[in-house]
Amino acid sequence: MASGTNIKTWFEGTWHNGDVPVMRAADHGAWLGTNVFDGARYAHGVAPDLLAHCERVNASARAFMIEPTHTPEDMVAIVEEGLACYPKAAAVYIRPMYWAIDSGPSVVLTDPGRTGFAICLEEIPLAPPDATVTLARTRFRRPTLDSAVVNAKAGALYPNNARMLAEVQVRGFQNALVADAMGNVAETATSNVFMVRDGEIMTPVPNGTFLAGITRARHIANLAAEGERVTETVLTFEDFEVADEVFVTGNMHKITPVTAFEDTTYQPGPVALRLREMYWDWALSGR
Ligand code: PMP
Repeated sequence: MASGTNIKTWFEGTWHNGDVPVMRAADHGAWLGTNVFDGARYAHGVAPDLLAHCERVNASARAFMIEPTHTPEDMVAIVEEGLACYPKAAAVYIRPMYWAIDSGPSVVLTDPGRTGFAICLEEIPLAPPDATVTLARTRFRRPTLDSAVVNAKAGALYPNNARMLAEVQVRGFQNALVADAMGNVAETATSNVFMVRDGEIMTPVPNGTFLAGITRARHIANLAAEGERVTETVLTFEDFEVADEVFVTGNMHKITPVTAFEDTTYQPGPVALRLREMYWDWALSGR
């Protein structure tokens, strides 16, 4: 079932109204999980970093040994055509997707010859400005590049994240603070994470095992433009227990303050508030 409303699907060269079927039963992507996607947003009349999201879905396809069929620039043009059908006030989730259609000589390998491609647009509201999130520990971890294709944003990685969420949600928390293979903090099940301690803004250093997101990079760049830096470093769960402020970032809601990590509690803090303002100032300025 779709998470949004007013869905439009670009498939086989044209826009369709609704959540139309795009895969076949024998598609490699349907039975062997070779599908990759990206998620961008349209909100307040703009689609921030859309090109970067389209570039990333092509990189994800290549990591899955799927040949991308559209240039990022083509994808942007198609998305803009689709977005023109929505009211300017709508908030839309933009999801380009590739999947392998045929098997290669060994069925597990993809045949680079044929690639499925679709873009799905769904109206999903931005979270209200006072939205917050609570985090808890999970026993499930991020895999490493030697055990999963973590250098792609791929559907196949998300059942692991889903079991993290299921585990913490039965305990009354909303999201999981996830460890990498070494046991250090990596990200949450659906977003990147930052903490502030004594005025220093810190976030886990990208080590190739988690999605160092486009929104994360944008917040870091916005701060850098004002001469401020974010320390990318190894962070432990104990570091988060003594943080003054914690927040998560991702394309869907851009930035969300964390109010609890297990039994440690925080107030929504000034850095998250400021970064949200800086984000929308940057996005709406058309820079
Ligand atoms: N980590 C995970 C697991 C995610 O699903 C997301 C959302 N795509 C992110 C981080 C944030 O990435 P981005 O800012 O590129 O959306």
